[in-house]
Amino acid sequence: MVKAYLVTGGAGFIGSNFIRYLFSCYGDKVFVVNLDKLTYASNINNIKEFNNNKNYKFVKGDVCNKKLVERLFEAYKFDYVVNFAAESDVDRSFISDAKFVKTNVHGTLNLLECAKKFWTDCEKIKSNVKFVQVSTDEVYGSLSLNCGQFVESSPINPQNPYAVTKATADKLCLQFFKNFNFPVNITRCSNNYGPSQHPEKLVALTIFKCLNMQSVPIHGTGENIRDWIYVSDHCSAIDLVVKKGKSGEVYNIGANCEKTNLEIVNTVINTLKKYNNDISSKLITFVENRKVNDLRYSINFNKIKTELGWKPKIEFLTGIEKTIDWYVNNAEWFKTVNHDG
Ligand code: NAD
Repeated sequence: MVKAYLVTGGAGFIGSNFIRYLFSCYGDKVFVVNLDKLTYASNINNIKEFNNNKNYKFVKGDVCNKKLVERLFEAYKFDYVVNFAAESDVDRSFISDAKFVKTNVHGTLNLLECAKKFWTDCEKIKSNVKFVQVSTDEVYGSLSLNCGQFVESSPINPQNPYAVTKATADKLCLQFFKNFNFPVNITRCSNNYGPSQHPEKLVALTIFKCLNMQSVPIHGTGENIRDWIYVSDHCSAIDLVVKKGKSGEVYNIGANCEKTNLEIVNTVINTLKKYNNDISSKLITFVENRKVNDLRYSINFNKIKTELGWKPKIEFLTGIEKTIDWYVNNAEWFKTVNHDG
C-alpha cells in the first residue's frame, strides 16, 4: 500500500535530501507532499528533479496556515508527517527571533493540531500513523571539553534563540503524547553536512569561499566543537523512526564525529586541493565570536542503535569528499542561493 507523507521544509537542505532518500528507497510505494514556504533558505533547484514524479506534489505555503494544512490532510490523508520546516540559522536568530518563534513554535503546534484532528476524526490515530519532529542536539545546550555526551534524558538547556524555539516545539510534541497519546517522535541530530546546504553553514560556506579563493571566516579561535553527520545518514535514521519509533520517545542521532570548527575547515581545504592546489589554510580569517557560542556538542546515539538497529554508514572523510565532489560538479548551484532573509 502507498504511504502518504507530508514533508514540511522539503525545499531546504535536509528535507530535500530526505525526499530523495524516500524515492530512492521506496519508489512509487510512497506519495510525498512537500509543503514549503520557500524562504531564503530554500532552493527550488533542490527539488526540481521530483517535478515529473506522479507521486510527488509541491505546495508553496506556510506551516502556520491552519486552513491550508487542514485542506492538505483532507486531500491526501497523510499516514506520516515529517516536520523539517524551520528557521534554522543560529546567527540570524540573534538578530531577530520573531520569525523563529512563529515557524518553529507556532508552525509545529499548527501541524500537531491538524494531524491530531484529522487522525482522530478518521480513526487513523489507532493505526500506524506517525508525526516526526526533526529537532536538534542544540536543545541540550553546551558541554565542557572532554566531558560527557548528550543522552535523551539530558537536561534541556538551550543557549540561543534558535535552540530555544526548537526546545519549545519539542515540549509541545511531548505534551501531545502525554495528553492525547498522540503518535509522535522527536529526533535530535548533530550537525549535518552534504549536498545542497545553504552556504551560511560551515561546510558549505568553506567550500564556496575556497572555490572562489575568498577568505574563510571562522568564529573566535575555531575551538568550538560540533559533532558531524553526513545528511543521508540523518535521513535513514528519520526513516526508521517514522516506521519503528515507539510513540512518545526521543531519539538522538549522531555519528561519533566530534571536530573543532578549525579541524572542519582545514579538512575541507586539504580535500579541495585535488581541484586547486592554490587553496590553502592561508584563506582562513578569524572573526569575532558569537555573543554566545556553545563550546561543545557530543551526541550519544546508543538508544536508536540498540532499540531500532540504526547506525551511520558514511565515515567523515568519505562524506566530506562526496560533499565536495557534489559542489564542484554542481558549481552553478551556488549561483542560485538566496541570501536575503
Ligand atoms: P534549511 O534552513 O535548509 O531548510 C528549512 C526549510 O524550511 C526551507 O526550505 C524553508 O523554506 C522552509 N520553511 C521555513 N519556514 C517555513 C514555514 N513557515 N512554512 C513552510 N516552510 C518553511 O534547514 P535544514 O538545515 O534543512 O534543517 C531542517 C530541519 O532539521 C530543521 O528543523 C532543523 O532545526 C533540523 N536540524 C538541522 C540540522 C543541521 O545541521 N542542518 C541538525 C539537526 C537538526
